[in-house]
Amino acid sequence: MANPTIGHIHCPICNETGEVRRYATGTKKLYWHCGCGQIRPTTFNGQKFINENATFIGENGTPLPPVTDEKPVNGKLTETEQKTEKKKGLFDMLFADDEAE
Ligand SMILES: [Zn+2]
Repeated sequence: MANPTIGHIHCPICNETGEVRRYATGTKKLYWHCGCGQIRPTTFNGQKFINENATFIGENGTPLPPVTDEKPVNGKLTETEQKTEKKKGLFDMLFADDEAE
């Protein structure tokens, strides 16, 4: 069964509008379906491309939160990440080297 369409994206390859979907299991990464078939850019940059270029409609027509980490967008995961961020102090912000942009 196909996963629900959660947004649309302009495919730079076939120049058509692709339907953005998400893996139903596992990593729940984003991909899109278009004239090319299924485009699955599974790396962080690939997922970022989809988040920045897709127009999300959500499964219920509501916008989805953007990906802010290498982890996939997921309501629970995102909340956990936000809580983790709040716990970090200035020291961590100054010396954390794994989240540099
Ligand atoms: Zn395409």
